[in-house]
Amino acid sequence: MTNKPIIEFKNVSFRYDSEDETLLPLAVKDVNLTIRQGELVAVLGHNGSGKSTLAKLSNAILLPAEGQVLVNGMDSQDEALEYDIRKTVGVVFQNPDNQIVASIVEEDVAFGPENLGVPPAEIRKRVDDALRAVNMYDYRHHEPHKLSGGQKQRVAIAGIIAMLTACIVFDEPTAMLDPSGRKEVMQTIQKLNREMGKTVVYITHFMDEAVEADRIVVMDDGKILFDGTPREVFARAGELKAVGLDVPVSAELAGLLKADGVELPNDVLTVSEFVSAFQKAALK
Ligand code: ADP
Ligand code: MG
Repeated sequence: MTNKPIIEFKNVSFRYDSEDETLLPLAVKDVNLTIRQGELVAVLGHNGSGKSTLAKLSNAILLPAEGQVLVNGMDSQDEALEYDIRKTVGVVFQNPDNQIVASIVEEDVAFGPENLGVPPAEIRKRVDDALRAVNMYDYRHHEPHKLSGGQKQRVAIAGIIAMLTACIVFDEPTAMLDPSGRKEVMQTIQKLNREMGKTVVYITHFMDEAVEADRIVVMDDGKILFDGTPREVFARAGELKAVGLDVPVSAELAGLLKADGVELPNDVLTVSEFVSAFQKAALK
């Protein structure tokens, strides 16, 4: 892919401050990563591997201790660029309740653009467009706390869309949702990327969600372990298991059958690929 980089991590390390004098270990270690315009990149890694820290470094919520984070070429260390960086990259977090700031849906969505100093008439249009994009326009006068988890999360996403950010980083946005909420949010994210052209970084621990990405980055202990297509990454089942991650069920079944002598390809990823590869093997 030759699209323009939108987020670049260059030898980035980060350490949280401890409550006392002790030095905490680095949460992110010498990370090099480029996210290009239009990509949908999934980030996988077990708890504590540094995913949320990476998300917060991507729009200057946290600043690197070493190395550089560039957003459209803007260095996150430069305080004067903070607004422009937040206008380019938005982050949606795991817990929808922590992201709601107003008592009416449309006011909540307006909060981001208001803070950016967007004129009122323009805000009106952005809020309506954003709520339509996430299928929540009919709920614009509702109270956010009465919505389902999936609906709240879509309102949070609308808030970022209304800031017209080119890139959205999602930090496990479906982790606290039921299956139907999860599906609503996944469909919204697909639409943002495939139809609206937003660059998406999608942090998740659901393997079936990661399969949908153009690219998967696997983190372990603050470092990037793999960076490749879903097919490349999930072919390394053994190494993923060693760092506490699963592979999609179809890939796992194929791997087990293959180890038992069934002739299957190395890179079975989806259910339909598994079925056709298995039928082929069975017909032999
Ligand atoms: P993940 O999102 O992959 O679970 P995090 O980025 O949240 O990982 O955490 C990376 C490391 O930094 C972990 O060891 C975690 O305990 C530590 N950490 C995260 N937040 C803080 C904090 N506010 N203060 C101190 N340590 C933290
Ligand atoms: Mg996290």
